[in-house]
Parts: sequence; structure tokens; C-alpha cells
Amino acid sequence: MRILLAEDEVSIAGFLKEGLEEEGYAVDVATNGREGLQMASDSLQSYDIILLDWMLPGLSGIEICRKIRLQDKKTPIIFLTAKDTVDDIVFGLETGANDYLKKPFAFEELLARIKVLLRNNRGEQSVFSVGNIIMDVEKHVVTKEGSTIELTQKEFALLEYLLRNQGKVCRRTRIIEKIWDIHFDKDTSVIDVFINAIRKKLDQPDKPSFIQTIRGVGYKIDEDENPS
Ligand code: CA
Repeated sequence: MRILLAEDEVSIAGFLKEGLEEEGYAVDVATNGREGLQMASDSLQSYDIILLDWMLPGLSGIEICRKIRLQDKKTPIIFLTAKDTVDDIVFGLETGANDYLKKPFAFEELLARIKVLLRNNRGEQSVFSVGNIIMDVEKHVVTKEGSTIELTQKEFALLEYLLRNQGKVCRRTRIIEKIWDIHFDKDTSVIDVFINAIRKKLDQPDKPSFIQTIRGVGYKIDEDENPS
């Protein structure tokens, strides 16, 4: 899951980025309005959620929200702002934002609201299985034959992405866009390192990996090829 955060207060931006990354999200930060709009327009398909500060230098969060909504109706947007009159809140929601958090807010509350919007946007399914492996996204647990397997946040995010797209080939470029942030070097072999780590933890000994490598393209998980 990848998040765009437009916030000009560097300490808040840094704190949110760090906290969200600890939760397994990839986070790109824009520190002024124009940069925020540019990043949103360049890779709108990549973002699963957009967090907009209202008062930004260059272009306000409201303006960014309006412009995003001209191109895309679906990506959830949350305003983060000190403005809190009823008029402000209504105005913010009328421009197309899905939710609204008044500063200062508790990080846990932001996280909870992000999860609700992602769930609404992606459908209810939060439990996935393949062979003897079960992933419960809400509970953040992966089990193999009933035993919990510890995955790092990135491993978890990568496996979740493959499971959500079960039966389809997931292209490397698409995986990078979804799981890593804008500063990620697309030529590195980091994806393979993470895939191998997941395989080591979850594959059945002496059987082909539950994650297929599609040479030159990417990876795929297919239930049909993983009879339990
Ligand atoms: Ca601001």
C-alpha cells in the first residue's frame, strides 16, 4: 500500500512518514502544494490513499483535492488540518475528500481511518489463503499449517499484494510502485531478496515455491498450482 502525504511542517511529515512506514506502508512526502499535485498527477494509479494538509505553500490542500477529483474519483483523500469549524469541515468534504482529521490528532486515529477507507475502497476481503498458508490482513497475521509465521512489514505488504492479485501475474514495476516509495531504485534486485525471504519462511520443503517466478516479468501466486 502506498500513501502520498502533502504536509509542509517537516516535523509532522517526518513523524507521520516514520509511523506509517513502521505499519508497512510506502510513503512519499510532498512539502508544498505544487509538488503534492505533481506527484499525485504523475502516479495517481500508484497511490492507495492521499493525506493532504489544508494550508500548504504554493497550492492549498483544497485545490489539490479538487484537481485530483477531476482526474480520479476513487482514491481516498483525508484532510489533516487545524481548521475545525463546521463550515470548514463541510467545505473540505464537498471538494471531494473522504475524511477529515483535526490537528493535533492521535496517530492511532489516523491509522484507524486509513484502514477504514482502504477497506471500503478495496472490498471486504481481508483473509486470503493459498495451500496451507492463511493471511489475515486485519489481524496482521500469517499462518502456515496453523502456526504463526513472522514476516517483516515489507514482506507482509509484498505477500498481501500478491495474494490480493491471486491468479494474475504481478509485474515487478507494479510491485515496486505499490510497495516501495518514490526514492526506490527500480534497478535493484531488492524485490527478489524479499521474495526469497518469504519463500524461505513459507514454502513447503521439497516442493515448488508457492510464489511462481514469471521470468522477465514478475511473480504470481496461483491457488490451482498449490493444492493443499
Ligand atoms: Ca500547513
